[in-house]
Amino acid sequence: MADHKYEPTKWHDLKKPVEGGRDTYQKKSWNPMKHKWGPVTKKGAAPVSFSQAGATNWTESMICKTKDLFYQTKLNECFQKDDEVAIKIHYGEWNRTAILRPEYIAAIVEEVKACGGHPYVVNDCTLSYHTFNSMAISQYQMEGAIRHGYNDATFGCPVLIADGYSGEDDYRVEIPEGLILKETYIGRAVAEADAMIVLGHARGHSITMYGGILKQLGIGCQSKRGKYMTHLAHWGDPHDAIGWPKFTDLCPGKACKFHQMCDDSCPRNAHKVLEHGKEWYPERCRLCYSCQVTCLFSGMTGIGFEDNYFPNAMIAHADAALGAMKCFETGKVGFMNFAIDVCPECDCFPWAGMPVCPDVGIYAGKDLIAVEMATLDGIDAAPISPGSVAAEKGLKPGDDKFYYINGFSPRITMAAGEKIGLGTMEYKLNNYEPVLTPENARKWQVRPTGKPTTVRLREVFAHHDMTTEVMPFNRSGWDKDWVWNEWKKYDPFKGTKPDK
Ligand code: SF4
Ligand code: SF4
Repeated sequence: MADHKYEPTKWHDLKKPVEGGRDTYQKKSWNPMKHKWGPVTKKGAAPVSFSQAGATNWTESMICKTKDLFYQTKLNECFQKDDEVAIKIHYGEWNRTAILRPEYIAAIVEEVKACGGHPYVVNDCTLSYHTFNSMAISQYQMEGAIRHGYNDATFGCPVLIADGYSGEDDYRVEIPEGLILKETYIGRAVAEADAMIVLGHARGHSITMYGGILKQLGIGCQSKRGKYMTHLAHWGDPHDAIGWPKFTDLCPGKACKFHQMCDDSCPRNAHKVLEHGKEWYPERCRLCYSCQVTCLFSGMTGIGFEDNYFPNAMIAHADAALGAMKCFETGKVGFMNFAIDVCPECDCFPWAGMPVCPDVGIYAGKDLIAVEMATLDGIDAAPISPGSVAAEKGLKPGDDKFYYINGFSPRITMAAGEKIGLGTMEYKLNNYEPVLTPENARKWQVRPTGKPTTVRLREVFAHHDMTTEVMPFNRSGWDKDWVWNEWKKYDPFKGTKPDK
């Protein structure tokens, strides 16, 4: 990319308001429950249950602890028999591995069914985000979800896209309490549910700094229209680069080897790479992030974000989360955060960076902000993983990890969320570890009430005992010296035991 002429981006100013607009769409908003909705914590600290990562026996399996916490925190009381229960998760970008393992979701589906609910797993379509995003169209997103093991065969219930083929199936929800947004758009499969269990994968995020359960509501439950709202599309003036991308003068134009990808990145033909520099039509832009992320992912610096954009987008996504909550009566939404594979970036990235800390554990409760605060405090207190961006930055346990890694503290979102009634930042942590008893060892196994596997095998062996059929086994004769000493020749430690 040497020796070429740099030219500033050629702007075509926004001349008139956008034609059409929301007055032509759903004048009547969806808020059948708004008179019943209100903060779940009336006063004082909200209870949050926590179970640490790791296990040494049957009962401590993370899956068993997931099920235990579901009942410990009374998430089973979020719904009644025959309620339609949305299980909200993130389906994860194509080629990403650091996402919630399907077993966690299956575990909750099993218990919702056991309690008489009718579960279905949901996620909304995303905006385009980058040139090769798989999640912007439901057909592509489902191909990725199936590849991740997110399907009806794994979960034992339907797996849906909440807002239709390309994200257009939604309801408008008014949020007069919002600090920035006054309305948003929620995918119908979320809005139509009687209750919802939100399973969050706690990790970083390059726009909201951190993503957990609130992100599942503030972006994950939003249809495309809702996501454009949360992105603050067309907020302010294009030159301020808040509701629009920030175009720099560092784009070399066609000398950039990614210029074709860059041209292909915009779903609205809002920009075009020129011989030197770019041409940009702000009236066509809807701030989908696709051009910025394509440029950033390719290591170029032609398009980016205005710094003040981030805290405003964080506050807007708290507003949007309120829109999702207002589709439900108070207490009909339960939350679990899995601080596992705590990578620095979102599950919508098509790769996974090194986790910033070892796995922390599972947090659960009914107060959204309290569960988020407990999760963030747990992640911040955790040790720093070697080789991670947190280690590169020299962070110490106790530092606000995502503030230092991504640029702003996630507590901005939580303070905004508290202000608009999404929950309380004050929490009381209840540490939960299951006790090893025969009953607890049995209760979450494959046949919790039936025969143990070994008893079943006893019956099978009675018909066909392969252990006796092949005897005597064909092997070398018993040689004491071989048994006690010969094997040590194959051992790099020559048979010595570890001294620590
Ligand atoms: S110009 Fe606007 S609409 Fe086009 S890719 Fe960039 S952010 Fe998206
Ligand atoms: S990727 Fe970035 S640097 Fe390359 S052409 Fe696009 S805006 Fe310019």
